[in-house]
Amino acid sequence: MSFQDVEISNECQRADIAAYIDGELSQREELELEMHLAVCESCAEELNQQKKLLRALDFALEEEKFELPENFTKVVVANAESRVSGLRRSSERFNALLICSALFLLVLIGLGAEAKSVLFSFGRVFEQFLVVGSFAFHLIYDIALGIIVIVRSLLFQFVFSSTVSIALFTVIFGFSAVIFSRLLFRRKQI
Ligand SMILES: [Zn+2]
Repeated sequence: MSFQDVEISNECQRADIAAYIDGELSQREELELEMHLAVCESCAEELNQQKKLLRALDFALEEEKFELPENFTKVVVANAESRVSGLRRSSERFNALLICSALFLLVLIGLGAEAKSVLFSFGRVFEQFLVVGSFAFHLIYDIALGIIVIVRSLLFQFVFSSTVSIALFTVIFGFSAVIFSRLLFRRKQI
């Protein structure tokens, strides 16, 4: 890698500064940032601030050194045991009820839409009863309406057809009367 290949960037890459301190940049990226730091005062200042912060953190961690107590595991185990036994002794039933409620809730959530039908099955039966009832009412109403329509159309057809038949009967009667009279007249003439 030659020095000429590296461009001096005018853009501030603040994220690269932390990576530079942590040694996460590639050789080329490191060189690019160092060249940028040479010309950019604000980035150079940022680098110094981050270094100071890291030093302060390191110092604080050095000072606050602590060791786990020798009986740490024993204390934790004893605490857990007393909590479990306490649970068994005093509020077992309440906890059991709580867990059962939680499980019931989880089951309901798991069932989703089915849980709804289980819970409101009674309501649905009542609803279905209403639907059936209204259906029956509608059926009766439709039948009645149908009968009225049929009777009305039948009545109309009867009236219409009777009028036509009367007219036809009149025409036929008139024709036959004329023909008959003519036949009679002819016979008389003959
Ligand atoms: Zn910069």
